[in-house]
Amino acid sequence: MSDILLIPTQKQIRDEARAFAREGVSRQLLLDMDAEKVHYPREYIQKLAAHHLLGLRFPPEWGGRGLDWAHEVLALEEIGVLGASLACLFSLPSIVGEALHVFGTGKQKASYLKPIMEGKLTVAEALTEPRGGSDFFGATATVKREGEVYLLNGQKRFIVGAEGADLFLVYARSNPDVSSHKAISALLVERSEGVEVQHVYGLLGTRGGGTGRVYFRNVRVPVENLIGEEHGAYEVFNQMMIPERMTSAAGALGLGRAALEIAAHYANRRKAFGQKIREFEGVSFKIAESLTRLDAARALVHETGRMIDAIGNSSYIRRRVSESKKFATETAWAVVNDAMQVMGGIGYTNVYPIERLLRDARLMTIWTGTNEIMNLVIQHEYYKELLAAPQVARNVETDALNSDVEGEKIFE
Ligand SMILES: Cc1cc2nc3c(=O)[nH]c(=O)nc-3n(C[C@H](O)[C@H](O)[C@H](O)COP(=O)(O)OP(=O)(O)OC[C@H]3O[C@@H](n4cnc5c(N)ncnc54)[C@H](O)[C@@H]3O)c2cc1C
Repeated sequence: MSDILLIPTQKQIRDEARAFAREGVSRQLLLDMDAEKVHYPREYIQKLAAHHLLGLRFPPEWGGRGLDWAHEVLALEEIGVLGASLACLFSLPSIVGEALHVFGTGKQKASYLKPIMEGKLTVAEALTEPRGGSDFFGATATVKREGEVYLLNGQKRFIVGAEGADLFLVYARSNPDVSSHKAISALLVERSEGVEVQHVYGLLGTRGGGTGRVYFRNVRVPVENLIGEEHGAYEVFNQMMIPERMTSAAGALGLGRAALEIAAHYANRRKAFGQKIREFEGVSFKIAESLTRLDAARALVHETGRMIDAIGNSSYIRRRVSESKKFATETAWAVVNDAMQVMGGIGYTNVYPIERLLRDARLMTIWTGTNEIMNLVIQHEYYKELLAAPQVARNVETDALNSDVEGEKIFE
């Protein structure tokens, strides 16, 4: 992003995150994660914490920096160049932390939020179940209160960080007798007796981040670990979808940017038919298209970030956040795909990291809510706005020669 629009603290956080991505993460870690020699890079999270880079939006009292989304998206883009696993592990304290920050009690913040930001507690978010992820309200994991504990039973799958997490934010059905919107509770579940994590699948990309299936069998969760109201997880979910989707969106910018830079340098050096391939329109237009898409995606993500800072959660913000997630992740996918095309055969090999970034990018349109679900939210929230709003702008519908022929305006 052009520095001209950044205030000094934004430049500073961007530069700190950029320096961390450049110097704080070894090439070997990336290779070992992709080869699944590393299953969960706990030291990476501790190192981020040591650099005071976790939970940037939370108050210093709880280990954050008291910054806002306009700052956090800048850091997320820089970390995004490391690929989806490390970007996601960087994001999880921001995602789980949001639930604690907005809905947590003082005691919960002291016991969990602060240690998370200090890198002493690692976290995962357990929402998706084997029976499905898109239909959040169909959750089948259950919690039942028994005195001073909840008994948690069920399974979650595709949980990033599960293999190393000390703490899980879990959504489970707490009231089987009412409509789903009032039937689910959110709980903080420590890794304890009855929690089992299995590494059951090979992933196309986004490896080494501890993605696993989690079984909860009669896990005893203290009642004080309830987040928000009992049966009130709908509110928690609604709030958490902001960091969940904004982190995906902003991380995707970094991944796309990295791929574009590699391809652009390559096109400037590689020759075919006696000239640099960037001199062929078929190549240079791909670079131009990618750059334009990335700039447009970045503008959308940054504006959305500033809007969240200004007005907080709302129907309008849900639309903008979903647009950002959808557009930025589709952009990253298109940019990485074109980067591979620009590089020809060598882009398909592990001589360059484009193939790894492509494998990572593919997930981004699926996780944190598929882009079809983003479309569902976008149009739903738009119709709410459209149908509620009084006509204040020009009524363009009447600017047609026969617009007054009411008999031709048939809708059913
Ligand atoms: C590597 C990886 C990491 C992940 N990390 C996490 C994590 O940390 N925590 C977590 O909780 N989850 C995580 N997920 C889960 C991810 O968010 C889900 O996979 C995703 O939300 C889709 O859910 P699903 O796979 O069950 O697909 P389904 O919900 O079964 O959907 C299948 C298809 O149907 C479409 N579809 C479903 N409903 C509709 C609809 N109403 N309208 C239009 N299309 C629809 C979907 O878009 C999709 O194309 C991860 C997944 C992967 C693969």
